[in-house]
Amino acid sequence: MYQHAFVDGSLSELPLGKVVCVGRNYAAHARELGNAIPEAPILFMKPSTAMVSFAEPVHLPEDQGDCHHETEITLLIGERLQHATEAVARAAIVGIGLGLDLTLRDLQADLKKKGYPWEIAKAFDGAAPLTPFLHPAQLPALESLSFSLDVNGGRRQTGDASCMLTPIVALVHYISKYFTLMPGDVVMTGTPEGVAALRSGDVLCVSLGEWQFQTKVA
Ligand code: ZN
Repeated sequence: MYQHAFVDGSLSELPLGKVVCVGRNYAAHARELGNAIPEAPILFMKPSTAMVSFAEPVHLPEDQGDCHHETEITLLIGERLQHATEAVARAAIVGIGLGLDLTLRDLQADLKKKGYPWEIAKAFDGAAPLTPFLHPAQLPALESLSFSLDVNGGRRQTGDASCMLTPIVALVHYISKYFTLMPGDVVMTGTPEGVAALRSGDVLCVSLGEWQFQTKVA
């Protein structure tokens, strides 16, 4: 069973909650999928059953078409946030890590075309592999975090929090206007460009600042 953990190996006391995600938070990624740049954050959720440890092999759903990696900065929320100010939102971020917003792209495209919700393309079991979290003091300021994904040794995605359409703290503030965030909830902050399909046997290495985490696709 997945449990929130920190890079020093300690487990968090926080319960597992929901995962709140944002779509199209980087202009170049919106463009690569042919989507308009949104005027406000596009929010969706994954249930707690989507979270798995990044250290475990990634299991792709079978016979569902392409499953894309979306590498994203993740936030572990430590306080109840409802209509939170940006200062309160910032103080409630107790962990920062990376995660994959796994997306069944063919299925999502089909559902989008029909005007249906694309929940099953993004909220399935195991759809959110999460690295352990770092304490905010272990990383540069939230506004200047940079990260990357290498697949089989080749650079696939690079991201920088300074390029987000809605920056991290403003995003948590915005989310809390619609969904009360609870201790143990996770926020995924959107993917930069470079999303692509994963294949069995792929070796993935993600970097956040000086920190690196590796996994493979089963
Ligand atoms: Zn995403």
